[in-house]
Amino acid sequence: MTKVLIIGAGIGGLGAAIALGRRGVDVDVVELRENSGVLGVGINQPANSLRALRALGVLDEVLAAGFPYDRNSFYDWQGRLVVDCPSALGGDVPANTALSRSDLHRILIGAVEKAGVKVTHGTTLHDLHDTGDHVDVTLTDGKAETYDLVIGFDGQRSPLRRRLFGTEHEPVFTGYSVWRLTMPRPAEVTHTMLFQGDGTKAGVIPLSDDSMYLLHVTAEPGNPHIPADGMAEMLAERLAGYGGLIGELRDSVSGADGIVYSPLSEVLLPSPWFKGRTIVLGDAAHACAPHLTQGAGMALEDAVVLAEELSPTGRAVGASLQAFMERRCQRVKLVQDVSHQILFGEMAVTTETLPAAVAHMRETLPGQLRQVENFLNQAFWAAGP
Ligand SMILES: Cc1cc2nc3c(=O)[nH]c(=O)nc-3n(C[C@H](O)[C@H](O)[C@H](O)COP(=O)(O)OP(=O)(O)OC[C@H]3O[C@@H](n4cnc5c(N)ncnc54)[C@H](O)[C@@H]3O)c2cc1C
Repeated sequence: MTKVLIIGAGIGGLGAAIALGRRGVDVDVVELRENSGVLGVGINQPANSLRALRALGVLDEVLAAGFPYDRNSFYDWQGRLVVDCPSALGGDVPANTALSRSDLHRILIGAVEKAGVKVTHGTTLHDLHDTGDHVDVTLTDGKAETYDLVIGFDGQRSPLRRRLFGTEHEPVFTGYSVWRLTMPRPAEVTHTMLFQGDGTKAGVIPLSDDSMYLLHVTAEPGNPHIPADGMAEMLAERLAGYGGLIGELRDSVSGADGIVYSPLSEVLLPSPWFKGRTIVLGDAAHACAPHLTQGAGMALEDAVVLAEELSPTGRAVGASLQAFMERRCQRVKLVQDVSHQILFGEMAVTTETLPAAVAHMRETLPGQLRQVENFLNQAFWAAGP
């Protein structure tokens, strides 16, 4: 494996560029966006994702930029504590570290440059022809090149997935969306705090000593277009029933700039995610609801595991990609399924069922969360070569 093309310079594509570049592979990255800017909200990196970032050599920078924490607390819509769940993640790394997406991007870009990889913006795949021995590629900037492998980290709407597998695996809108806003961090926000409402959920996640982000998950049937200029008022309206901390924060939402509105869609491409010498990874293969904050972690794990599986010399590319699939399917499916269940379970709560739902959370949530976290905390390279 000497020459690889990566399509998409998001978190997963940059992760793969670093992992392969550090192993001496000649990597080209093409990115559709004209520049390398990212939307200014935050992202949590749970322990398994931090381990992938450690494998990429950037853990210390991520920890220095972010806010480590070790628990999730659950409240009702009035801000009354339901249950506090210390995390079962971590050990050798913090259980969680949240940081701004722009900081994570800056750190990954720095490592990409150190690994000697060039990212070309405003360019994408024009055509490819897999000869069995290699892939002949033409790009939209007119360049033609031959690669040993083409990797699509081109996001949940992945044109590469469509090219390889047709249109039957398009993202499915869940009916729900997330509103996010970076705000000053009140001293009490030292970990993820989630507030269950009737058919909605609000939350806060610390990002640094000074900042945190507010999130709100709402039902948005029909996936309406939300105009940027009305967003702050719409978010404030949707938070109307909340008291406690969220009620206090609501007053600073009206008139705020920088709200990011994300409809939630899911994709899970059946195995295998490759055809010949072309593979799709990250959100292109498995975009999930963000409720375990694992999407980028799964993309980064994909990147690290793929680089490991491509390393043994003398193994056919198809055998390496199959070995990769064996290490990824179960883990990705668990994240997909649990994230889906949490989203739909929380959104199904009504005014009438709220007291029972809260009692159920108190009883069952710590055990359920511990079970999932124990699984995710197992080394994701354990089954590797
Ligand atoms: C509301 C919300 C909150 C989330 N919170 C978290 C969290 O806290 N923790 C976490 O781990 N994950 C979180 N995620 C998930 C995470 O953002 C994604 O799983 C992750 O970004 C996937 O990385 P990726 O590289 O596969 O795809 P992307 O980040 O989507 O990157 C795809 C890249 O490909 C480019 N591209 C698209 N088409 C083409 C093309 N044709 N040619 C070239 N380039 C192209 C895009 O411009 C983009 O740069 C969240 C997601 C949402 C929606």
